[in-house]
Amino acid sequence: TSFSLRDLLASTVDAYGETVETHRIDLELPEDPVLIFADEHKIKQVILNLLSNAIKYSPQADHIRVILSANPEQATFSVTDHGLGIPQNAFEKLFTKFYRVDNSDIRKIGGTGLGLAICKEIIESHGGAISVESEINDGSTFTVVLERDPRKEWN
Ligand code: ATP
Ligand code: MG
Repeated sequence: TSFSLRDLLASTVDAYGETVETHRIDLELPEDPVLIFADEHKIKQVILNLLSNAIKYSPQADHIRVILSANPEQATFSVTDHGLGIPQNAFEKLFTKFYRVDNSDIRKIGGTGLGLAICKEIIESHGGAISVESEINDGSTFTVVLERDPRKEWN
């Protein structure tokens, strides 16, 4: 079925933000509702995983930014934090099950290493892509690109 990715981001970030006292989450949304064909519940799970990572791995920075943009073919959203960052040599492994960055700061932060593997599985099953850009001690941006109508790829 189709739904508005703009409205899903707005409601998910809103509800999640209510539960977070340590960080401010800024949302940049287009006027277009950005209708996409996808499993809304699963895309919501991806948004929540990325938000929880952004907050968990930025204990020293209080600002998260979520941006959505779209053209007729693709919708793109990103979650940016100003936290611990990720070494470049870990970028590929991040999306595999049970992998956690070997960093003493991070070892004190709980998790099972499944969130990003689940995100990748969901996004790729929709014919989309998820990627990361990051700088150690500066922060990370996770970007999701979804085809607006990928009905041949998922069912
Ligand atoms: P889970 O999500 O299953 O509770 P997790 O957060 O450790 O556990 P993933 O979400 O898959 O697992 O993330 C894998 C690893 O990638 C994390 O352990 C962390 O080392 C690193 N990571 C993920 N997101 C960020 C981020 N925004 N900033 C810095 N490191 C991150
Ligand atoms: Mg996680």
